[in-house]
Amino acid sequence: MHDFGALRSLHLARFQAEPAIFVAPGRVNLIGEHTDYAEGFVMPVAIDFATLAGISPRSDGKIVLYSENYGDEKTFDAEALPEKASKHWSDYPLGVVVTLAREGHAIPGFSLSLWGDVPLGSGLSSSAAVEVATALAVTSLLEISYPGPLLARLCQRAENEFVGASCGIMDQFISANGAEDNALLLDCRDLSYTLAPIPPEVALVIANTMVSHSVAGGEYTSRRAEVEEACAVIARHRPEVRFLRDATVRDLEQWGQEMSPNALKRARHVITENLRTVAAAAALIHHDLKELGRLMAEAHRSYSQDFEASCLEADAMVALAQDLPGLIGARLTGGGFGGCTINLVEREHAAEFAEALGARYATEIGIVPQIHICHASGGARRLA
Ligand code: ADP
Ligand code: MG
Repeated sequence: MHDFGALRSLHLARFQAEPAIFVAPGRVNLIGEHTDYAEGFVMPVAIDFATLAGISPRSDGKIVLYSENYGDEKTFDAEALPEKASKHWSDYPLGVVVTLAREGHAIPGFSLSLWGDVPLGSGLSSSAAVEVATALAVTSLLEISYPGPLLARLCQRAENEFVGASCGIMDQFISANGAEDNALLLDCRDLSYTLAPIPPEVALVIANTMVSHSVAGGEYTSRRAEVEEACAVIARHRPEVRFLRDATVRDLEQWGQEMSPNALKRARHVITENLRTVAAAAALIHHDLKELGRLMAEAHRSYSQDFEASCLEADAMVALAQDLPGLIGARLTGGGFGGCTINLVEREHAAEFAEALGARYATEIGIVPQIHICHASGGARRLA
């Protein structure tokens, strides 16, 4: 909801105070899946969907959080912030406030209103958008400034330590640091990054499978354990390998037989995905869209067959896109087991591509998907 005027009006009506307004985008990952916790590479893009946060000071020592999406308000005492989350939407903005307090900042009372159009829980990172918008709003009220990478770390800590979700740094990082018309190649080891331009003739077509298989939580944990098992085997021979980021395909050829078959496959995905992600950034920088499409296809195969994190619906969404006019590359994006696919499509074909893909998926799977045509948007900022 980029409607600055609408958020300002609702904040004024509810709190009788002029808000300062901030925006933070959702994101889609072009390539680099399950590489973040192996200290590897990811290449996300900030998208047009975003969350707005309006903030104004209060003199009664209360922190009042309101979400227009939920039509719900929660009040806390700034002097006695909760220690624990309560499985409520307010955990996300409150987590940011509590984390700032834990970093030593005195938190005054304020009113915060939130309103976003990032689809909730669809893998486009509405959670990071809320956290980053809240973090910008609250740090501005405190008259302190966190550089983008540190703002992202703060929000990741809020989600890991307060909300209790074990996410990597990618979502918060791209929301805080995205750049219009660019993807961002992020090195999750040291948070250094390179922008890779998305040509104006390329559209991001995000296709929501509308399924989210409930195995995802448990499978995420077991995949991580298998990745760590593979890394430990390699480290027995090469102690300098601390994460799969440091390992090579040659290591797998030499020592793969000492791993369980699953650990070997998961490691093969992570190691080759790191290579593909760096190569995909180079392809964008050199305007080699054919190579980019090839890397995305290979990434999907690896994610589906070696990492086994796809599902029937996502495989169908990718397969059904293959012969549609304008397709550059398609793959399942996000944590896996459902969610969205990302399709890079020649902009002139994007609308008919979206329509044809939706019709094919509805016929094949029996579910009408949501399909969004996006462009690479800028990162979080204050709106004047
Ligand atoms: P995703 O980040 O993929 O959208 P998550 O499960 O990580 O999914 O985060 C979704 C949660 O974030 C929501 O259930 C809600 O608690 C919180 N959230 C997201 N957007 C808003 C919003 N505009 N207002 C209040 N809470 C929000
Ligand atoms: Mg999230």
